[in-house]
Amino acid sequence: MADTLSTLKTAYDLAKDLVNLHDTIARQEKVTELQRQILDAQQSAIDANQERATLMQTISQLRGKVAQLEAWNTEKERYKKVEVAKGVIAYALKEGMESGEPAHYACTDCYSDNKISILKSETLVPGRYPVLSCHRCGSVLYLSGARDLAYQKPKRPR
Ligand SMILES: [Zn+2]
Repeated sequence: MADTLSTLKTAYDLAKDLVNLHDTIARQEKVTELQRQILDAQQSAIDANQERATLMQTISQLRGKVAQLEAWNTEKERYKKVEVAKGVIAYALKEGMESGEPAHYACTDCYSDNKISILKSETLVPGRYPVLSCHRCGSVLYLSGARDLAYQKPKRPR
């Protein structure tokens, strides 16, 4: 903005000189310089507008982030940690916080990511263990039995 003002000041001074000039060539030179000054002023006004547009965009993105965080702060207060099996923790809806939703468990890893991911009740083969799985991050909570770390999924024949 200061640039624009000083450019306009220079242009104004040039215009003042122009009035007093009678030599045609000198006059033409002043006109050319004046036009250049005006173009510079226009360019710095355009630059200032672009800066403002970028700032407005950043502000609106930040507002969106704040709104998201506020929504998450409300949402996360609806849940508490519970033990679904010995030593196995998940989040569950607090009593009175159901808002019409059926009871469910949510993934602790996804909760740390500010997301509620409802755990699905499944049966794992081999062993037919009942588990709760998160289809967002791939976490598996064993409700009975335990994961055999040595076990690897058999590779499918090609
Ligand atoms: Zn998850």
